Amino acid sequence: MTRSISILGATGSVGASTLDLIRRNREAWRVVALTANCSAAELAKLAREFGAEIAVVGDESCLGDLREGLSGSGIETAGGAQALCEAASRPVDLTVAAIVGCAGLAPVMAAIEQGGTIALANKEALVSAGDVMTRAVAQHGATLLPVDSEHNAIFQCLQGNAIEDVARITLTASGGPFRTWTQEQLDAATPEQAVAHPNWDMGAKISVDSATMMNKGLEYIEAHHLFPVGLERLRIVVHPQSVIHSMVEYRDGSTLAQLGPSDMRVPIASCLAWPQRMDTPLEPLDLTAIGELSFFAPDEQRFPATRLAREAVEAGGAAPAVLNAANEIAVAAFLAGHIPFTRIALSVEAILQQSNLPPAPATLDDVLDVDQAARARARELLEVA
Ligand code: NAD
Ligand code: MG
Repeated sequence: MTRSISILGATGSVGASTLDLIRRNREAWRVVALTANCSAAELAKLAREFGAEIAVVGDESCLGDLREGLSGSGIETAGGAQALCEAASRPVDLTVAAIVGCAGLAPVMAAIEQGGTIALANKEALVSAGDVMTRAVAQHGATLLPVDSEHNAIFQCLQGNAIEDVARITLTASGGPFRTWTQEQLDAATPEQAVAHPNWDMGAKISVDSATMMNKGLEYIEAHHLFPVGLERLRIVVHPQSVIHSMVEYRDGSTLAQLGPSDMRVPIASCLAWPQRMDTPLEPLDLTAIGELSFFAPDEQRFPATRLAREAVEAGGAAPAVLNAANEIAVAAFLAGHIPFTRIALSVEAILQQSNLPPAPATLDDVLDVDQAARARARELLEVA
């Protein structure tokens, strides 16, 4: 049986891992929409290879190149933020939401409104929209499958169990490339060093988030929305080998964990095949070669981001959207060489403390307003365009 699929953010790291699995199983899927921000040549190539119905660039100035790349193919093309939402609202069996940042929020919401199944990688969308998104999922009868490896692990460990029986959820964190660095070394860390993750090969933004530990902070908020066990039952443990992807402890003292290679094709395959299983081309885990698994408490002195995320989700309302927006601007400023590494968390904290928080967003437009306003404040603080 053929299933239909759209991939939002098809040219990124998660997009590429998803398409790799589809390429190995071509007859099982009909590709509807593939999107990118720009990367028109790459997107055109993928749209031709997978026989997509439509290819969309978020940045309208790249539409000319996309049209050129797809001329004579019969594949529809479109550009701009509204076009992304229109493509995302074409009914499909599965939407893979793999745009990076709050830029992916409106397209994810458009997919949710169709009531289908959404494999969510785009954690910033859920962090920013929180209850607005989870309410929309319930209202439209949509299904959210977590792609993020930790949340996918938790989702798997919860199967067949009642959420009321959960005593604690443990999110594991690799600790990133700077786990053992001193404060002085962190102050001098470069973008090249920050994007060189020891275990995972990912896009630049999430790689920097892993280095600051903001990725784990965002994931803490993501877990709070996906698995409503209460913040007091959610904790973070540093586990440098990235073999255990997260754990669920039950009230009888049993802890279930999901283990696997550090390759996003494992959690993506779990979403593609859900509720069944499929083959992946990965080497099985070699536990004797790995030898030892170790665990540490996070150091919030050197890596304050997890504290900031916890404080934001405890404050609730607009705070997580402000945290996310400020972080997106600070990470971009760091990657562009405008600010030092340690200023990322400092500036997020400054933006959160700067002014009275706006009221809790009730609609998608409210979230987008909070996001835009926080971005403007962060740009002003960091003196970036
Ligand atoms: P990436 O930078 O490699 O790819 C991002 C994709 O989004 C690209 O296709 C890009 O063209 C598109 N995009 C970027 N900005 C856009 C915009 N303004 N409008 C429309 N499209 C835009 O990122 P990634 O590493 O694949 O991560 C994607 C998402 O998945 C992120 O939210 C990330 O946190 C999450 N995630 C990634 C991994 C991983 O291993 N890479 C793991 C877990 C979660
Ligand atoms: Mg993760």
